[in-house]
Amino acid sequence: MQRESIRMFAYAISFDEIKVYLSKGYYNGISSKFYLKNVETNENILLHGDAGGEENGFNTYYFHVSFEVGKSYRISDAYGLTCFLSFEKLPLCKEFDEHFSYDGNDLGSQYTKSYTTFKVWAPVATSVTLKLKKEDNILLFPMQRRKRGVFFTRVYRDLELYEYTYLIGNNDVTIETCDPYAYASTSNQRSSIIVDLSRCRRIRYPLKPLEKKTDAIIYEVHVRDFSVDPYGELRHKGKFLAFSEEGNETMLGYSTGVDYLKELGITHVQLMPINDYATVDEDHPYELYNWGYDPAQYNVTEGSYVSDPNDGYRRINECIRMIESIHKHGMRVILDVVYNHMHDVNDNAMERTCPNYYFRRDENGNLTNGTWCGNDFNSTAYMCRKYILDMCSRWQSLYGADGFRMDLMGILDIDTVNAIEAQGTEYDPSFMLYGEGWNMGTLPMEKKACMDNNRNMPRVGFFNDFFRDSLRGSNQLEVKGYTSGDTYKTNDVIAAICDYNKFATVEQSINYTECHDNATTFDKYSVSNQDEGEAAIKRRCELANIFVILGIGVPFLHAGQEFFDTKHGNVNSYNAGDSVNMFDWGRRDQNLEGVTLVKNLIALRKANPCFRTNNFDEMHEHIHIHINNINHRMVEYILTQKEGEGDYREFRIYVNPSYDVIGIDIDDDFKILYKGEDEHIENHHMDVQGISFAICAR
Ligand code: CA
Repeated sequence: MQRESIRMFAYAISFDEIKVYLSKGYYNGISSKFYLKNVETNENILLHGDAGGEENGFNTYYFHVSFEVGKSYRISDAYGLTCFLSFEKLPLCKEFDEHFSYDGNDLGSQYTKSYTTFKVWAPVATSVTLKLKKEDNILLFPMQRRKRGVFFTRVYRDLELYEYTYLIGNNDVTIETCDPYAYASTSNQRSSIIVDLSRCRRIRYPLKPLEKKTDAIIYEVHVRDFSVDPYGELRHKGKFLAFSEEGNETMLGYSTGVDYLKELGITHVQLMPINDYATVDEDHPYELYNWGYDPAQYNVTEGSYVSDPNDGYRRINECIRMIESIHKHGMRVILDVVYNHMHDVNDNAMERTCPNYYFRRDENGNLTNGTWCGNDFNSTAYMCRKYILDMCSRWQSLYGADGFRMDLMGILDIDTVNAIEAQGTEYDPSFMLYGEGWNMGTLPMEKKACMDNNRNMPRVGFFNDFFRDSLRGSNQLEVKGYTSGDTYKTNDVIAAICDYNKFATVEQSINYTECHDNATTFDKYSVSNQDEGEAAIKRRCELANIFVILGIGVPFLHAGQEFFDTKHGNVNSYNAGDSVNMFDWGRRDQNLEGVTLVKNLIALRKANPCFRTNNFDEMHEHIHIHINNINHRMVEYILTQKEGEGDYREFRIYVNPSYDVIGIDIDDDFKILYKGEDEHIENHHMDVQGISFAICAR
């Protein structure tokens, strides 16, 4: 409705105050009296209050009066002009949660064969109607308003696979919305679908408990990217089900799919967003591409990953099969969740069921934009926090997720993030939670779930950008890091590998040099080190991989990092399509040495607890990392182990990103486990070649 074309409108602005706007173009915006009439009872009250100022061509009036939220009221002026009283600005007032916070765990539709119960939290609606649809038949059921703004109805028939929406009434305006708690949806969020959850069961494969988070080795992959390359020989291209395929091979006979992930030895597969996102048309999934950081529904899976996006059961069960298969192969699954903004702030079930509540507003009622995506989750609001927690719980219990990677976590507040962690760990002690702890958004600093506040979130991990920037250089392509040859960063690298000060615990550091964002390491080095040629650039990528996997903290790898993946120079490929983003199985076959090194490093980490310490004291005692005293460009990383622990009692790791050949003294009882080029130990001496490394042990 265009406000300019109407003469009067009115809002409840608190639980006992209303504000009326009267157009200056109508009797100069002046009325000697105003009345409030209860539409149901016809009771008419003369209002007493004060004139406010002028706002955008309207005179304003404030009245203290009692009313019941959710009932229909009309305001009338001295000339008989009337308008409805709207409650849609009430969520902006501070007391809102005191009146309407709801603790029940029964929101959504609860199916049984003989009846289905529906509950939706829509506290400022004046009416809610359930709309059911089966083929061409449409049935409407008015819902009953109950305590705390929850609307309820129960329909006594078997509603399995009926589609449904809610018609949210705000007096004379009605909007249609999906159910924010539904389990399934038709394509492109046209309607929710009622399912029988007893037909959505998962097999629980036993997994070895994750004793400490430094035992994890995380590998980030995008569902569609993983299987679209024809060379990978996976049948379900771009789908959840590709992860359930076993025994596939490339033309050269190397494993693909989940078998490959298992062979690498990683412990956790981090999937880029798999909840419903907006920009890929689910009915034509190959027209557009997206990473999925454009959330549409948090409660259902992304339809373009499903073999039939209109089949409510496939939508759930194909995702369950994917996670089950990863579990079956001994790995856990971390879901990348985007609880910080939505693709369209108006076109989503949260804003539609309760406007002006779920997304942060400033004192003028305007959306804040700390995410740079147009809106920010209002996680300090009771029901917003509850929604995030309920969804996290669902992804754990129904789908089997083992942890979450929180996108732009710094937008959220510390209490919410700690609550997700506590809830997740209570369900599963092996649960992991980490995220992007960038300092952003409009919350007061002491509330932000950002990296600088990590001491208030000791069980939550953070992407360590200091580690990334020290090792590979900043996101500016030309800027070198230590492994690309900036040996002035040697001290930074030492701090990054064993950071004594940055975090409250060792387990909080998510050590990475590459993730889906920005250029791949290979692409970056192809710019920063362009004169060196491809072989040297790949070797430098390997130097970075050594630190990621053998550094102290939690190693994080981006899919393809092991075979020097390229996005052909694209630094923000979120919608760049399959040819740029796909997991390139052919490139894997062409770079088997890189893959083998990563596999070996992972095996070394897993077999030797010294690399996985989660304890600062133990680290001080057993780990020494310093600048080589002969040539200051080389890092010398020494780890010792107690008798009976691991395969060796001492490791010496030399990483030399300079062009110099650096000679070191080393006892003859060391053997070289892995090396870059022509390294060997002879007469207590070893030459580490330029742009090379040696991992020695005894
Ligand atoms: Ca979608």
